[in-house]
Amino acid sequence: MLVVHIAFECAPIYKTGGLGDVVGSLPIALSKLGVEVAVVIPGYGFIKRKKYLPGTQIPVFYAESQWFTKPNTRHDPKIQAVKYAHFAIASLDELKRRDIRPDILHCHDWHAGLIPWLLKAQPDAFFARTKTILTIHNIAYQGNFPLAFLKRAETQNIYELLAKQHKRISFLKEGIRAADFISTVSPHHATEIRRGKVGFGLSQVVRGKRGKFVGIINGIDYRVWNPRTDRLIRRRFGRTTLTAGKSENKTFLQKQLGLTVSPEIPLFGFVARLSSQKGIDVLLPLLQNVPKRRIQIVILGAGEAKYTQLLKRLQTPEFNKWVSLNFKFDEKLAHQIYAASDFFLIPSHYEPCGLTQMISMAYGAIPVATDVGGLHDTIISGKTGFLFRKITSPELLNTVRQALHVYIETGKLAKFRRLLLRQNFSWDKSAREYVRLYRKVAHL
Ligand code: ADP
Repeated sequence: MLVVHIAFECAPIYKTGGLGDVVGSLPIALSKLGVEVAVVIPGYGFIKRKKYLPGTQIPVFYAESQWFTKPNTRHDPKIQAVKYAHFAIASLDELKRRDIRPDILHCHDWHAGLIPWLLKAQPDAFFARTKTILTIHNIAYQGNFPLAFLKRAETQNIYELLAKQHKRISFLKEGIRAADFISTVSPHHATEIRRGKVGFGLSQVVRGKRGKFVGIINGIDYRVWNPRTDRLIRRRFGRTTLTAGKSENKTFLQKQLGLTVSPEIPLFGFVARLSSQKGIDVLLPLLQNVPKRRIQIVILGAGEAKYTQLLKRLQTPEFNKWVSLNFKFDEKLAHQIYAASDFFLIPSHYEPCGLTQMISMAYGAIPVATDVGGLHDTIISGKTGFLFRKITSPELLNTVRQALHVYIETGKLAKFRRLLLRQNFSWDKSAREYVRLYRKVAHL
């Protein structure tokens, strides 16, 4: 069985968030199960191309388009539209050029949403036996644009196919409708979408798939996220060196970031895209009182300017001894935060799967998170983390207080941490679920 993954990012070649992690690690787990896999991503001008996923024989192909070589166009909707419409065409062209006929085209998120649609709207004999699966990693990002944005030489074909019926285009909606099967990245989030709790207007469309929608939890790649072997952290550690390892990584990070240095102070980490989803509004009131509470918080995030401005406004010399603000994308610092933190904050309003709770557990940092989506599926409240239902600042504060009991009571922290390190979020089980899904879809 040949499965080709198509997405806009694939770690470590290009990564902006969790999707990059998934597309960089799921194919490896699939290939271990005997599936033949390949990956297609855009041929961005600013990345270092690799022929294979590093350390594997899994080929990576690059969809060519002049739209990917232009710099500074990430946030212009006119360019986004034409870029990823052309990505659909260019990805299929690349496979044809290489004479690759996949059994399954596994498309990820809105960027690849037009691929299932294109194969239905304009059937191509070359792909006659190819089935499509669309995985929704974040239903809020839909690729909704005026159709007129696609009136360009490269995407004229798509424009004409749709112009008779539509004035606007939704990449994700077209993809959901046209795909042979759709999925999302945790069972609980699948229920949230179905019930319309989280749907951003697309729950009805998803419900229309009847029996062709499933939630499969993501895994993490322990070759990347493993405190025993991690080369990016100050001191590697395992089960027997947990307490000393955490402590040394903490004081190192405190020094490096200019925080008050003391292994006694409980340290909270926060690593996320700065977007409304991630609950920075919920976090803000807690931050205001941090010096008084004698806890420390390290924030690492890149994203919307409005959040960086809000957070920067809190800064005073005293605040900076207790809270460290880092507005950038920094893989190394992210690893160091996981390794140093006692707790990890995830106050997300919704979280399709979430990887940071699994990563923090792997590094012995206790997640304090909202009871939504994949967080619900991966954290056992009171045992491997702390979950709160009502997404408000007072609830977050209550839960932080509860979590701090673990820190204060002698012996409890070490026990908790040992249990965290025993959790297994590897891809093995989920990859097997995907293989079952591929078999089912191939025979539809
Ligand atoms: P999402 O996919 O919504 O961004 P996830 O929790 O699924 O969130 O995945 C986030 C991934 O991106 C994790 O690997 C996390 O460590 C990483 N990440 C997020 N923001 C940053 C940042 N500013 N610097 C480095 N890594 C980051």
